[in-house]
Amino acid sequence: MKRLYLLLALVIVGVGVFWFWICQTDFIMEVSILDVGQGDSILVRSPEKIMLIDGGPNARAVSELGRVLPAGTKKLDWVVITHPHLDHFGGLFWVADRYEIGELWVFTVSGSPQYERFLSLAREKKIPVRMPAAPEQIDLGGGVRVEVLYPFQAGNPFTNNDSVVLKASYGEIEFLLTGDIEAPRELELVNKKVDLEAEFLKLAHHGSKTSSVIPFLEAVDPLYTFISAGENNRFDHPSRKTLYFLGKLGIPFYRTDIDGRTTVRLEF
Ligand SMILES: [Zn+2]
Repeated sequence: MKRLYLLLALVIVGVGVFWFWICQTDFIMEVSILDVGQGDSILVRSPEKIMLIDGGPNARAVSELGRVLPAGTKKLDWVVITHPHLDHFGGLFWVADRYEIGELWVFTVSGSPQYERFLSLAREKKIPVRMPAAPEQIDLGGGVRVEVLYPFQAGNPFTNNDSVVLKASYGEIEFLLTGDIEAPRELELVNKKVDLEAEFLKLAHHGSKTSSVIPFLEAVDPLYTFISAGENNRFDHPSRKTLYFLGKLGIPFYRTDIDGRTTVRLEF
């Protein structure tokens, strides 16, 4: 029933992807997998609030935001750095220059010199910084919320596996956003019986072969998945293994390197 409702309510707008239905109506929730090249940047918004999760490697995030946000948008209520690798926060230097940031979520205060430079910039701009941990959640208004599923405690080191895992939702329609976690963390979350089930999954670590193991994909049981990877990237993301697993489980996927930006929009 839940999934039937989803098919009736959902609008997916893509660049070269597809849509079920599109019109200028009010929306409930919108999630955009931005096309930032080899990196991640995901925008979640309700009619009231905006959260940006990662900022990609460079200035592309700002041009992507300009295309999906209403003209005149000045503020991002929350900006999240899933983990302090340049392909996730590099573009935030440009984002912080263009937009006011209400609150910055980070999960470590140490990292590369560039990361620490970004934290200094945040301090200079007097952006409040927080280090949330599961099971915190915030309300984006209108019934949209974002929950922290991982880390279980704040102040982790800064490997891919320490990426924050978030679930954005409206009612029972859920988007799982996994940063760059790898197989050991995926299996830990499955074994700890964290509620991973979601209709939409941003695959971890750009579709790398080190992530997206079958027990994790089965626990999430997504209707659609998204891979954020750069065209002809040197890491060979997404891996053939990941694409094979998705094919074996019959899960469709959209790739920023082929399909460009994809927006999932839930409307009245
Ligand atoms: Zn990455």
